[in-house]
Amino acid sequence: MNFNIAVIRGDGIGPEILEQALLVLDKVARLYGHSFTYTDVFMGGCAIDRFGDPLPQAELDKCLASDSVLLGAVGGPKWNDVPGSMRPEKGLLRLRAGMGVYSNNRPAKIWPQLAAASPLKQEIVDKGIDFIIVRELIGGIYFGKHETVEENGEHLAIDELRYSESEIRRIGRIGFETARKRNKRLCSVEKSNVLDSSRLWKKVMTQLSEEYPDVQLSHMLVDNCAMQIVKDPSQFDVIVTENMFGDILSDEASMITGSIGMIPSSSLGDGSRGLYEPIHGSAPDIAGKDMANPIGTILAAAMMLRYSFDLPEEASCIEAAVGAVLDGGYRTGDILSPLDSGCKKVGCREMGSLIIENLKKG
Ligand code: NAD
Repeated sequence: MNFNIAVIRGDGIGPEILEQALLVLDKVARLYGHSFTYTDVFMGGCAIDRFGDPLPQAELDKCLASDSVLLGAVGGPKWNDVPGSMRPEKGLLRLRAGMGVYSNNRPAKIWPQLAAASPLKQEIVDKGIDFIIVRELIGGIYFGKHETVEENGEHLAIDELRYSESEIRRIGRIGFETARKRNKRLCSVEKSNVLDSSRLWKKVMTQLSEEYPDVQLSHMLVDNCAMQIVKDPSQFDVIVTENMFGDILSDEASMITGSIGMIPSSSLGDGSRGLYEPIHGSAPDIAGKDMANPIGTILAAAMMLRYSFDLPEEASCIEAAVGAVLDGGYRTGDILSPLDSGCKKVGCREMGSLIIENLKKG
């Protein structure tokens, strides 16, 4: 099959990690007889330097014409002093808005080889951690009206939390569809004992479940979910939740897995096109030193194959190769624990090459 991928190398370590992800995709294409075409897109600091704009419309248009977008990372101290509307991160916000992505999906997976990096007790980690949080991205309290007024001689701050049925339904569908591609268990997280928006959320999720009889739906209050993620994360497959709850829970979930350099994410809207990226930033402290961990970006490419291109075998092939390299004891600096005496420290390029060597058609 042929796919056109918009490639945003970005700033800092972005170009280094993305290069390795593209080499992995090239090998997958050869193994499985696909053709991936890459269109370079400039966004972030590099676009400010080139065009005086963090994401010119022509660059966004290249993303909109693609089958999916793969992003390294943007930003860095060089652009700290540019005006707010011109900052590299504005490019990212414009990209998300332009692509109409309303769902952020972040896996929390512990690689058994890196279990020691988790702050959780070993007996909890040993049960396995492998779930995804599907977070609503462009609604809820972050996008409601914010105002501070004076009342009775003091300041009063108000943040509005609104969700319509259609907003809930569309994110709910992403949750159910994601669960369908995994272990078919979806946990809807809300605060329906207190909030009207959560009561509507629960009602819509329950209605939607009639369309997905193969997916087992459960409901959980957000405070309980925060506890369960550290107490028994093995119980989760897919969690779907609103914007602010998802913001907090997804950071909690990434923390329990140990390393920021290992975690991919996707942002999806209507249709199959998505935005795929690692969760970390441009790590300017290690940029250009061949020290970055490319695995988060390589796993983001695997997510793209699974969720946007419907190529689950190819995605599993990448994930298996990452597992094999970790089994072999190879670690970039960020995932090398002093306790791993038998492990070998490698750079970004070598980590990429080792993963490519281990790619085998299943
Ligand atoms: P960061 O994620 O870039 O770095 C935090 C720490 O983690 C650093 O010590 C870094 O060296 C390390 N690290 C991150 N990714 C790594 C990897 N793949 N391999 C090894 N080590 C890694 O966060 P920050 O320092 O707060 O931000 C740096 C810049 O990145 C800022 O300009 C910020 O705005 C930007 N940023 C961009 C994105 C994005 O593009 N989506 C996200 C977050 C931050």
